[in-house]
Amino acid sequence: AALEKTEILVIGAGPAGSVAAAMLRKQGRQVLMLERQQFPRFSIGESLLPQSMEYIEAAGLLQDVVEAGFQYKNGAAFVRGERTTEFDFRDKFSPGWGTTYQVQRANFDDVLARGAERMGTTLRFGDEVLSVEPGSPARVQVRRPDGSEYTIEAGFILDASGFARLLPRLLKLESPSNFPVRGAIFCHVRDNIPADAGFDRNKILITTHPEYVDVWYWTIPFSNGCCSLGVVAEPSFFEKYTGTDLEKLQAIVGEDPNLTRLLKDAEWAVLPVRTITGYSANVSSLWGEGYALLGNAGEFLDPVFSSGVTIAFKSAQLASDCLARRHAGEQVDWEREFAIPLRAGVKTFRRFVEAWYAGGFQKIIYHPDQQPEIRRMISSILAGYAWDTNNPYVADDSGRRLRVLEELCSA
Ligand code: FAD
Repeated sequence: AALEKTEILVIGAGPAGSVAAAMLRKQGRQVLMLERQQFPRFSIGESLLPQSMEYIEAAGLLQDVVEAGFQYKNGAAFVRGERTTEFDFRDKFSPGWGTTYQVQRANFDDVLARGAERMGTTLRFGDEVLSVEPGSPARVQVRRPDGSEYTIEAGFILDASGFARLLPRLLKLESPSNFPVRGAIFCHVRDNIPADAGFDRNKILITTHPEYVDVWYWTIPFSNGCCSLGVVAEPSFFEKYTGTDLEKLQAIVGEDPNLTRLLKDAEWAVLPVRTITGYSANVSSLWGEGYALLGNAGEFLDPVFSSGVTIAFKSAQLASDCLARRHAGEQVDWEREFAIPLRAGVKTFRRFVEAWYAGGFQKIIYHPDQQPEIRRMISSILAGYAWDTNNPYVADDSGRRLRVLEELCSA
C-alpha cells in the first residue's frame, strides 16, 4: 500500500485536536487530522469557561464559534438546600474574557473541526488510528470506514483521542488517578422552565445534593430551550436506585426540591440517557519522542468545575508553541515547556476539586459574609484562569491559603 507522509498527525477531532490543528495551520505546518467517528456526534463536556475563549481566539476560530449561536454564559450559580450563591465571571481577579458559551458538543466540535479544515487541515472522518510505532518519523496504521488500511509516516503526533486514550494504552503510559471513582447519569431535557422561576439561563447551575455533600447535579441551559442535566456520585450511591437510567436520574433529581420545582414541566430525555463511570485518568508522561498527549488523552480530573475543554485547549496551545520552536530548529524541552506548565493549572483545579468533594470549598462559596477581593480571586479560578500565578489562590501551591479560608468559613 502507498505510504502517506505528513508533518503533523492529529489523532481525534475533539476540541483539543481541532484547536491544535488550527494553531499549527496558522504556523504553516502541514496537518492531517484523523477522526474515527462521523460528525456531528454526541460528546459530554458542554459548559465552557471564559479562559477557553482566549485559545479559540488564538486558533483563529472565534468567529466560527460566535456565529454558531450557542448559549451565552457569564457565570455559575450554586445551590444547596436554602443556600444559593452566584459568581459572575466578568467580576474576577484575572484579566481576560469574562464570558463564554454553553454548547451542544455535537455542533461545537463540528464547528471547530470544520474551522480547522477551512484553515487547511486535511480532515478525514471515519478513519481510525489502530497502532503507532513512535520515532522520528513515527509509523501509524490507519483503518478506513470500508475496512481497508494504510500507513502514515508522521513527523510528530498529537494524540487528542480523548477518553479512548490511544497512545497511553498502546505505549503503556497509563497511571492511576488519585481521585475516587465517580460516575454520572445524564441526558438533555426540554426544560420548559418559566422565565420567572429564578433560573438564570446565562449561568451553569450546580446543585449540591441536599443530604450528601459529595453528590452534585449540573443543569446547563442551551440556546434551544433544552438543558443538559446530570448527576455525579460514587457508584455506591447509584446502587440504591432501580429501574432504567432515566428512572434513576428522575428519582435522584426528585430528591432536590429546587430542581424538582424548576423541572416540573420538563420533557425528559430529548437525547437518550447516558452514563459514564471511572473517567478520572492520568499518565506517567505527557510526551515522548515524536509525540505529545493533549486533553483527555493525558490527564482528566473531574467535571465539577467544567475545566476539561479549557485544559484540552491549553494543552493544544502549549504543544503548538513547542512545535513552532521545534520547526525553527530550536531544542524543545517538552517536560519543561509542555508538561510542567500544563500540569501547573491542572494542579490548581485539583486543589479546588478536592476541596469541593470534602465540603470545605462549599463552606467558602455558601458563606454569608464574603470579602469581595477573595470572591474575585475565586471567580477567576471558576472562570478557568488556573494558570494566572498573580492570583494568590493559584500561586498557593501547598493549598495552605485555601485551607485557612476554609477554616475561617467553618467557624
Ligand atoms: P474528545 O472530545 O473526547 O475527542 C476525542 C476524539 O478522538 C473523539 O471524537 C474520538 O472519536 C476520537 N478518537 C478516539 N480514538 C481515535 C482513534 N483511534 N483514531 C481516530 N480518532 C479517535 N468539560 C468541560 O469543559 N465542561 C463541562 O461541562 C464538562 N462536563 C463533563 C461532564 C462529565 C460527566 C465528564 C466525564 C466530562 C466533562 N467534561 C467537561 C470534560 C470533557 O468532556 C473533556 O475534557 C473534553 O471533551 C476533552 O476533549 P478532547 O478533545 O481531549 O477529547
